Amino acid sequence: MTSVARTRNLRVAVVGSGPAGMFTAGELTSEGDADVDIIERLPAPMGLLRYGVAPDHTSIKSAATIFEEILARPSVRLFCNVPVGHAVSIEELRSRYHAVVYATGATSGRDLMIPGEQLPGSLSAAEFVRWYNGHPEATKFDLAHTRRVGVVGAGNVALDVARMLLKSPTDLRQTDVPAPVLDALEVSGVTDVHVFARREAIYSKYTTKELREIGKLTGVDVIVDPGQVESDPTGEVSMAAKRNLDLFRAWSTADRTDAPRRIHFHFATRPVSVLGTDHVTALRVERTDGSVKELSIDLLLRAVGYFAQPLDGVPSDQDTRTIPHQNHRVVRDGMAPAGEYAVGWAKRGPSGVIGTNRADAEETADVIRADRSTLVERSLEPVNDLPDLLSDRGVPFLDRDSWAAIVRSEADLGARLGRARVKLHEWEAMVEAGSLHLKSSTATI
Ligand code: NAP
Repeated sequence: MTSVARTRNLRVAVVGSGPAGMFTAGELTSEGDADVDIIERLPAPMGLLRYGVAPDHTSIKSAATIFEEILARPSVRLFCNVPVGHAVSIEELRSRYHAVVYATGATSGRDLMIPGEQLPGSLSAAEFVRWYNGHPEATKFDLAHTRRVGVVGAGNVALDVARMLLKSPTDLRQTDVPAPVLDALEVSGVTDVHVFARREAIYSKYTTKELREIGKLTGVDVIVDPGQVESDPTGEVSMAAKRNLDLFRAWSTADRTDAPRRIHFHFATRPVSVLGTDHVTALRVERTDGSVKELSIDLLLRAVGYFAQPLDGVPSDQDTRTIPHQNHRVVRDGMAPAGEYAVGWAKRGPSGVIGTNRADAEETADVIRADRSTLVERSLEPVNDLPDLLSDRGVPFLDRDSWAAIVRSEADLGARLGRARVKLHEWEAMVEAGSLHLKSSTATI
């Protein structure tokens, strides 16, 4: 049993290595008085940044530079491939660290709760997002025989999946999209994407920047029924909503170019049922004027928000599917003592952009700092340090050097394929790439 060497500073475990966890680790270690261990279930870190942000959104992806800088700090350690709740329990973390921060995000797609949505060919957009981002647990998509896709939702995820379905694969060669994904998109039969928003255009949650990208897609006509965007909004509406409405109005009167692909926006239209016997064949929708229509589709992607799967041993509010908290401190049995915290989508629910998590992490870290005197009073059990515990249990964890080795492997793969970095997407391949440096360092001893 190894004694705990890092006892002077505040010892913090951050569960989850996505933006919220990374920003929290960055904040806590910015003043040199805390040591942070980031623990991640997947073999690679960065969560939503790696597995949620679309590959062609390279400026958003550049936040990785900030996270790499945080990971490089001596006071930060990374443990990937470690499922908390299985490899190590919450109780074990709480007895080894002054504070435990849950930053596990919200990764599951919400259902529509309509008949037929469990048919093959009807999936959460979250699955499609995972697939094109090379998530090791993603469902594989074969688009060769898919022509018409329905996308339900008026948020940025709906736009992301619609754009990825329609974008020229040539443009995606410059991204890190996995090789099998690029191959599948190259032979995709998709010609039409129908996006359904249950409310009027003015209430769509698309950000204008992302909406404008749709109009810039090569070989794609944007189709909006003028009748659905003609009336002026009543009451107060935001500038962003007005900008979106202006875009939709411009598209509604634009000439069609007979482009090979089309995106159709349907407003005030909600899905009522998914039709088909052994696979989706159509979507029945109802407009707010009461009219009902059936549209033929081969694939349905539901982009109606995310929810968090509860983490074993951590409280979860059944209604909001979030970790209950008071001022960022986790509420357990009606109390919110110092020692357990939540941050990001796991706490707030799935809203906001990557940067929203920075402000959230700052606030959460401030509360942890405010609790410092209470936290350091907590006597940690003189138990073995996390790497020893995991090694004793045979958990093949991957550390910061392993992550660097995975990044190098992805760059090598890109070079071999005549592309920039190309993501590894298989769990075993990542573990193998991440373990290479261990083999080479053993070989040199
Ligand atoms: P979102 O912005 O909350 O949008 C969810 C959409 O689903 C809403 O339009 C909602 O309609 C609709 N919806 C919910 N239940 C429905 C139902 N039963 N039937 C029909 N429609 C339904 O969520 P998101 O698109 O998953 O995005 C999550 C967060 O990530 C957002 O904050 C988003 O901005 C962010 N994000 C950002 C980017 C980017 O910056 N590029 C990319 C992706 C995601 P109502 O509005 O009527 O409720």
